[in-house]
Amino acid sequence: MKNFHVAIIGAGVIGSSIAWELSKYKLDVVVFEKGSDVATGTSKANSGVIHSGINSPSSSLKARFCVEGNKMLQPLADSLGFSLKWVGKFVIAKNEDEAKELNQIKKVGQENGVPGLEIKDEKDVKALEPNVPCYKALWVPTAGIILPYEFTIAFAENAAINNVNFLLETEVMDLQKKENNFVIKTNKGKFQSKILVNAAGLNCREIVSMLQEPDFNVHPCRGEYLVLDKAYSHLVKSMIYPIPPKELGVLGVHITPTIEGNILLGPSAEFINDSDEKRTTLKMMKTLLREAKDIIPIFPEKAVINAYSGIRCKLASPNEGGWTDYIIEESKQTPDLINLLGIESPGLTAAPAVSKEVVKMISKSIKMKTKTDFKTKKIKNNRFSEMSSKEKSDLIKKDQRWGRVVCRCEHITEAEIFNALSNPLKSQTLSSVKYRCRAGMGRCQGGFCTQHIVRIMGEDFNIDVKKMKLKSSNSNLFYGKTREIDND
Ligand SMILES: Cc1cc2nc3c(=O)[nH]c(=O)nc-3n(C[C@H](O)[C@H](O)[C@H](O)COP(=O)(O)OP(=O)(O)OC[C@H]3O[C@@H](n4cnc5c(N)ncnc54)[C@H](O)[C@@H]3O)c2cc1C
Repeated sequence: MKNFHVAIIGAGVIGSSIAWELSKYKLDVVVFEKGSDVATGTSKANSGVIHSGINSPSSSLKARFCVEGNKMLQPLADSLGFSLKWVGKFVIAKNEDEAKELNQIKKVGQENGVPGLEIKDEKDVKALEPNVPCYKALWVPTAGIILPYEFTIAFAENAAINNVNFLLETEVMDLQKKENNFVIKTNKGKFQSKILVNAAGLNCREIVSMLQEPDFNVHPCRGEYLVLDKAYSHLVKSMIYPIPPKELGVLGVHITPTIEGNILLGPSAEFINDSDEKRTTLKMMKTLLREAKDIIPIFPEKAVINAYSGIRCKLASPNEGGWTDYIIEESKQTPDLINLLGIESPGLTAAPAVSKEVVKMISKSIKMKTKTDFKTKKIKNNRFSEMSSKEKSDLIKKDQRWGRVVCRCEHITEAEIFNALSNPLKSQTLSSVKYRCRAGMGRCQGGFCTQHIVRIMGEDFNIDVKKMKLKSSNSNLFYGKTREIDND
C-alpha cells in the first residue's frame, strides 16, 4: 500500500491550491479526484469573479480569506501565467433607500480593509457605463475576473511538475483511521496517509461520514447562468451588481464581463435536493432575463448563446437564512483530518489564502522542509493567436504544426492541441483539451476541430479510438462503426 504524508480529496480550486502550496515542501502528496480532470465540479461553473471582500461580515473567515486572497492574485497571475483583469465592479442603487444600503456595504468593506471604495452619482456611472441607469453606485476597483478552470489548472499542473501525484478518475469510497494513518479505499486500490485533507466540495459531508458522525448538513443551491455572444461585449466594461437580496446568503443576479469577451448573466439561487442536478431551466432563463432588464433596460435577449449552472455548497438552509461562515479546521474527533466545509463564494478568491492556512495547520503535525528545486511554469505561455507575426513565423519555421490551424473559431493550432494533450496531469479527454487551449469553445462549439483533435489523439498519443472520451470515464466519443468499409 503506497504511503503519503498528505492525501487531499478533491481537485477543485481548493484541493489544487493546497496541493501547489504543499509542493514547495519535501513531502509525498497525493490528490484523489473522481473526475477525469481537475476543476470538474463547482470550480468550473461559477462567475469567475475575484471578489474584493465587501460582502462578508467583518471578523468572518470569508472576509479574511477573501481580502488576503485578493491581494495574492496579481503576483500569482504574474508567476503562474493565468489570465486576470481588474475590471472593477459597480453595486447599483435604484433609489434613495437602496443608496443607504450602499453606505452600509461601503462601511463593511472599509472595516474589512478593502481599498478605493467610492460612492458615485448617476452622472459619473453613466460616463463609464452608459447602458446602466441608476441613482447612485458603489465603485469597487479591486474586483477582477479570471477563468476559474484555468486558475485551478495552473495550481494543479504546477503542483504536478513539483511531484504531487494527481490520481484522476479515482474516487474515495471509504476511510479508516488505523493508528497514526488513514487507510483510503478508492476504486483504484488502497492508499495510506498521515494527514487527510477533505476538499471534496459538495461531497464534504459524505467524506466526514466515512470517519465520524457529521454534525452539519449540506444544502446544495443551484445558480444558473446565461452566456452572451462576444459581439455584445461592449454592453458593460465592469461588473454590475444589484444590492444583495436580504435572504438566501447570495449576491443577486449580476452582469459580468468574461476574460474571453463574453458577458455572463446570473446566477440564480435555487435550493435543490440533488447536488448533481446541474440542468438549466426555461423558468430560470426567463427570470434571469427579467432581472437583467432591471439592470440594463436594453439587455439583448437574442444575444444568449449558451447556459450553464454551478452548485453552491451551503451549510445553512433557506429557512436558516442561507449564510454561514467557512469551517476550516482539524477535526476534534479524528486528529489529522482537516476539513474544509461550506466553501461557497468567495471560494475562488479565497483559495490562495485558505491553502496557506491549511499548510500552516499541517505543519503542526509533520516536519516540513522547503524544496530547493521547486519549479514554476507559466500556464499560458504560447497562444498562437496572441503572438506577433515574427513570433508566429519563427515558431512555424521550427515546427510546422504551429502553422496548421485546427480550431478556426479560436485560431488554435495543431501544436497547441499537442501541448494541451501533453499536460502533466495526463488528462486526455476532449474537454481537457478545450479547457487548456480553447479548441471547441468558439462559435461552432467543436463542429470543425473535433475530428482533428481525435486524429491527433490517435496518431500522436496512441489513444485507441474506442477509448477516447468527451469528459468523464463513461462519456465515450465513439461506440462503433456506423457501417463497415467495403474493400471489394
Ligand atoms: C454559482 C456560483 C458562483 C460562484 N461565483 C464565485 C465567484 O465569482 N468568485 C468566487 O470567488 N467564488 C465563486 N463561487 C465559489 C467557488 O466557485 C467555490 O467556492 C469553489 O469553486 C469551491 O471549490 P472546491 O475545490 O471546494 O469545490 P469543487 O470545485 O467542487 O471541488 C471538489 C472536488 O472534489 C471531487 N470529489 C468529491 N468527492 C470525491 C470523492 N469521494 N473522491 C474523489 N474526489 C471527490 C469532485 O469531483 C470535485 O472536483 C461561486 C460558486 C457558485 C456555485
